[in-house]
Amino acid sequence: MGVVPGSTFRAKLPDPPTQPSPTRGEGDETAAPCAIGRRLQERGGLERPRRPAVFLDRDGTLNHDIGYVHRIADFRWFPGAVNAIRRLNDGGYYVFIVTNQSGVARGIYDEAAIHELHRWMNEELRAAGAHIDDIRYCPHHPEGTVAAYRTVCSCRKPAAGMLLDLMSVWPVIREASIMIGDQESDAAAGRAAGIASAIIPAGGLEDFVRQLLSRREAAWPLP
Ligand SMILES: [Mg+2]
Ligand SMILES: [Zn+2]
Repeated sequence: MGVVPGSTFRAKLPDPPTQPSPTRGEGDETAAPCAIGRRLQERGGLERPRRPAVFLDRDGTLNHDIGYVHRIADFRWFPGAVNAIRRLNDGGYYVFIVTNQSGVARGIYDEAAIHELHRWMNEELRAAGAHIDDIRYCPHHPEGTVAAYRTVCSCRKPAAGMLLDLMSVWPVIREASIMIGDQESDAAAGRAAGIASAIIPAGGLEDFVRQLLSRREAAWPLP
């Protein structure tokens, strides 16, 4: 089984904007560890506190899933999704997005479209006092039409690659973290990464997060 190295699915961070685009060019494999270390230092990651994390699916969890969402004009937040993210930010969680984007492998859109959409999402969130700490996407599919992305990979959910990669970069308290999505494959990815997972109904994120935070506050009050 072909396993794709982690560096090939590492998403461009929404910020800082000075990072060169991590395209899938030659040299990625050797450059990746240095790039991570540099990025961590730039962002103060080495001094970041250990925290629990919420790993969020994107389509069908944060926004209406109309199929292969890749244009800003087509992206519609679920009511409460932005509030839910802000609550998690304020509640001391790292908030990550882990999203399968096989539309790239199928030739429907390219990785630049994903980066542009995610940049816009983070702008929207910041305007509302919220933010996503980091994003991973999987552009692959075993039956894709674009040869470069047609592969069985370790990052496409239900595999755990995206979550494991994030936990290798961020100081996550695994036992207090959770994967939230709308599909069984999301929950399976969480289990495979060794964290809790929950499948929620469309539009149900804010309610779920409210309960999560109240449970956590009871079990483990913030300082
Ligand atoms: Mg989904
Ligand atoms: Zn992948």
